[in-house]
Amino acid sequence: MQVASPDKIRNLAVVGHSDTGKTTLTSALLYTAGVTNRLHRVEDGNAVTDFDPQEIERRISINLSIAFAPWRHTKINLLDCPGYSIFVTETECGLSAADAALLCVSGASGVEVMTEKVWEIAEQMALPVIFAVTKIDRERADFLGVAESLAARFGRGALPVELPIGSEHAVRGVIDLVRQEARVFDRDGNGKGAGAEIPAELEDAVAEWRGKLVEAVAESDEALMEKFFEQGTLDDADLRNGLRRAIAQRSIFPITAVSALHGIGTSTLLDALHDYAPSPADRGAFPAKNLGAQPIELPVDPSGPVAALVFKTLNDPTSGRLSLLRVASGTLGSDTTLWNPRVEDTERAGSLILPQGKQGTPTPALVCGDIGAMAKLKVSNTGDTLCAKERAVRLAWFEVPPPAITFALEPKSKGDEEKIGEAIGRLLDEDVGLATHRDAQTGEFLLSGAGQLHVEIAVAKLKSRYKVDLILHPPKVPYRETINGQAEGHGRHKKQTGGRGQFADCKIVIEPLPRGQKFEFVDEIFGGAIPLNFRPAVEKGIVEAAAHGYNTSHPVVDFRVRLIDGQYHDVDSSELAFKIAGSLAWKDAMAKARPTLLEPVMSVEIVTPEEFMGDIMSDLSQRRGRPQGMDAKGAHSQVVKALVPLSEMLDYSQALTSMTQGRASYTMAYSHYEEVPRMIQEKIIADDRRAREAAAAS
Ligand code: GDP
Repeated sequence: MQVASPDKIRNLAVVGHSDTGKTTLTSALLYTAGVTNRLHRVEDGNAVTDFDPQEIERRISINLSIAFAPWRHTKINLLDCPGYSIFVTETECGLSAADAALLCVSGASGVEVMTEKVWEIAEQMALPVIFAVTKIDRERADFLGVAESLAARFGRGALPVELPIGSEHAVRGVIDLVRQEARVFDRDGNGKGAGAEIPAELEDAVAEWRGKLVEAVAESDEALMEKFFEQGTLDDADLRNGLRRAIAQRSIFPITAVSALHGIGTSTLLDALHDYAPSPADRGAFPAKNLGAQPIELPVDPSGPVAALVFKTLNDPTSGRLSLLRVASGTLGSDTTLWNPRVEDTERAGSLILPQGKQGTPTPALVCGDIGAMAKLKVSNTGDTLCAKERAVRLAWFEVPPPAITFALEPKSKGDEEKIGEAIGRLLDEDVGLATHRDAQTGEFLLSGAGQLHVEIAVAKLKSRYKVDLILHPPKVPYRETINGQAEGHGRHKKQTGGRGQFADCKIVIEPLPRGQKFEFVDEIFGGAIPLNFRPAVEKGIVEAAAHGYNTSHPVVDFRVRLIDGQYHDVDSSELAFKIAGSLAWKDAMAKARPTLLEPVMSVEIVTPEEFMGDIMSDLSQRRGRPQGMDAKGAHSQVVKALVPLSEMLDYSQALTSMTQGRASYTMAYSHYEEVPRMIQEKIIADDRRAREAAAAS
């Protein structure tokens, strides 16, 4: 379905807590719109937007995936986002490309952690929100109860635009409060339904809730307010247009009702999206900046210069690289030459596809406002803008949060390194929430993600897709050594073995440097106690020795060496001899300079519902954490900031999950190095010695 103008497009990110029925709802809307000829269910492993083998096996959405429902000459793009907090980066990718959030809330469970999280993200991105109360057929499902709790949490703007007919298993239809029309559905039918009379017992409720809606719409606009005072109500056209504007302006957040699994309320939801979800034209200019980082207005104009956002990258082992794009202005053709301002390089546009889950149909062009995919981009990554070179812009992209948890990767079989590197590169390309780096100090290859499950799934994907088998370990803590005092050291290397001997002698002073200054070498020899050409050898000998540690195998840092004196021999002195003398002098000095151990300290930020604050704080103090402040976040959450040694955080992901039933989340980032308490130092030194002895013996 190729669309010619932005007002015929709706872009909805289907978001919410896990298990609220997002994937089922996406499948059901596609079925009702005639894209599929039956409901593809999550249970059968064939939901349209869950197709990764990991998603089918675990029955959860891991990746953002897209599809579209053609409905009343409008292309309704659906971006099905994962609901687990550890995949929230995927959700943010989806929201970045959408014009509104379709926020799913289970009719039986009500507001959950991710409901609030997604709401906050939508608020930050200034995105309209449309609520879908799902699973209204479930036992104990309570549409009006949930609607009221949404209003309590998110403000009076959260208002029903529909009411269900019947409840729990007896639910059979939906009333559209704006049109005052009822529709009833065959259970397990195609969701199209048929018009019906509003049941007499619901007339009062319809009048009451429609009245509230009319008032809210009137309040959102001065002209409508005047009409409302004159007429005592609003006519249908004013109500519809006013509602549409109020939703786009985020003053009303309409609440709809649906049972996706049984096809009840899907056509009414599609109608609501058609009628009230903002089109790219309603939304207006997509947030963008020029290359000088000044905000600019991009016209929502299919004939303007092109600009498109890469909001997700997929790497299929067979069909290759596919980039999901949101066109923000102009028209994107498959023969356009594009400019990527981040890498300052041209990108040849590949073929364009309109995805329906993993299927796709080719399309010659994507008009501004539309969403689709482009094959085989070479230089562009997720978050990049593709644009016309003569009008280069950067489209708004969110800041990816730093990963919370890190594991060390070890290949099961040696010799796979190259293959692993390539496979991990592909995975990182797909998932911007993952990060890798090699720790220069420990030599370990580290993989970081938002939580343990996130990293485990990444490793499972590496195995199933690229046949590389990896073991995960907690990472080694990169301790460092340093000194607390100043000391003099003397090193003499002398050997007489038959022919030419070896001789070098040097005296040094070592002293502490401020944290982070690493190393400094000062030549303070006046005259020729050591010839100029041998002095760098002393420095080299010390640098090499310090890299291997003094009390442990961890490098010694933040110290200055002053070379103050020495002796040499015309024939027997050499660079090698001075290197050895340098390292001997350094060891001699270290013994007297009060060596000590440093550990990395992380700055940790925890977001938690209030009731877990006590447990979290006492657990942090057991982890040697130091609180740095607390802030209220929304009505019910707290943000705790603390500095905690990395060595105490290795199992934090599991600990926090079990302490809070998975309702808290955290991020952490490196802050600084700090001295390890004495008692703990002794244990680390002993463990390190044992590990070295074991390595030497094997
Ligand atoms: P997601 O994690 O939010 O994408 O949720 P899924 O679509 O995977 O659905 C989670 C579970 O809820 C699955 O077992 C679905 O069959 C079930 N489910 C989804 N929609 C409905 C519904 O309308 N009614 C009932 N009773 N169950 C549903």
